[in-house]
Amino acid sequence: MEKELFIPSDQLGFDPAVLRNDFPILTQEVNQRPLIYLDNAATSQKPKQVIDAISQYYKTYNANVHRGVHFLSQEASAAFEDVRVKVKNFINAQSEQEIIYTSGTTASINLIAKSFAQTFLKEGDEILISEMEHHSNIVPWQMICEQFNTRLKVIPILDSGELNMEKFKESIHEKTKLISICYVSNSLGTVNAAEKIIDLAHQNNIPVLLDGAQAVCHQRIDVQQLDVDFFAFSGHKMMAGTGIGVLYGKKKWLSEMKPIEGGGEMIKNVSFTETTYNDLPFKFEAGTPNIEGVISLGAAIDYWNSINRSAVEQYEDYLLNYMRNQLSSIDGVRLIGTASKVSGVASFIVEGVNHLDLGMYLDTFGIAVRTGHHCTEPVMDRFNIPGTLRASILFYNTKEEIDQFISATKQGIKLLR
Ligand code: PMP
Repeated sequence: MEKELFIPSDQLGFDPAVLRNDFPILTQEVNQRPLIYLDNAATSQKPKQVIDAISQYYKTYNANVHRGVHFLSQEASAAFEDVRVKVKNFINAQSEQEIIYTSGTTASINLIAKSFAQTFLKEGDEILISEMEHHSNIVPWQMICEQFNTRLKVIPILDSGELNMEKFKESIHEKTKLISICYVSNSLGTVNAAEKIIDLAHQNNIPVLLDGAQAVCHQRIDVQQLDVDFFAFSGHKMMAGTGIGVLYGKKKWLSEMKPIEGGGEMIKNVSFTETTYNDLPFKFEAGTPNIEGVISLGAAIDYWNSINRSAVEQYEDYLLNYMRNQLSSIDGVRLIGTASKVSGVASFIVEGVNHLDLGMYLDTFGIAVRTGHHCTEPVMDRFNIPGTLRASILFYNTKEEIDQFISATKQGIKLLR
């Protein structure tokens, strides 16, 4: 049923048009049309506050962090560590020591996979993932399984794109050592019942890693409330630069886990007979980090903190519902992923029309969407389709943009069928 649109603007709690002005890229034309950016699940656009923070860093305090006595290095180091506190507060971790900078969700998951396996796994142990995972939450585990003779078990999904909770419960047993699951699916939009999953896992003393790549930009995250053991996300999907991400881990796990990369920063002392590792979080941060990325992440968090998030979340909810309802009313369109709780994306196929052709047609109208398997080939196999067309929103999108996308989609279908 169509959710009523829109909340009267005076009750919205924020003005989308004002926020939109912060994003310079959105004012440009593509193919002689105003850009309509509906590829936010792939990466978000950046507000000028983030762009300016990166530029300011290079203009005024560029230096390597943590190892300089000089003014610039101290300034850069202070800014770098200030961001760690911002990240800690952003996801409500208990301590900055639980915040590890990585290059993104992929790197965060790989770090956990390697370190967890080296520290805790033995032959025959099992890792549990789901059928809706991004490749970055599948392949690292396959690699570990090959190396450590452990097994990967996959929880199936239902036709709605929801996790099969019965099968999930049945899959847990004494060999299960870690559950790694996405909070929000990037190709289906499904929002998993994270708290329920974590609760069930903990009843069996199993830690949980949540892939939060698609969650951080659409809902507030409280890792303590979730009681999640590990949480991975990417800066670029939440308005920061590319090549920066975060791995949150409970201190009780991280302090036991072995580092996976050796080098500068991650050590206390090095000699040819013995090397001692640094404290958390530095133990996991070998080498010169992505300082510019960290600065951008800090600026992005400041931006999130400056906006009315509950109003923004409500607006996105309305916008997404509107888009999904409009799409499903088009003859021949089938939404892939119809879970009761969805976030951010509308993935669909059209009878008799190739999704790639339709995506290219939309591009001629300046409309950016994504086509293909979205790095979730097992999801496509599950639905027996080669791929989908995915439109994904963020708070700077407008109802007018959705209307234009729908109208261009209808025209495209007519032409291409
Ligand atoms: N998991 C999910 C659910 C994602 O959507 C993505 C990005 N598409 C990733 C993991 C990987 O993120 P990144 O490429 O930023 O490492």
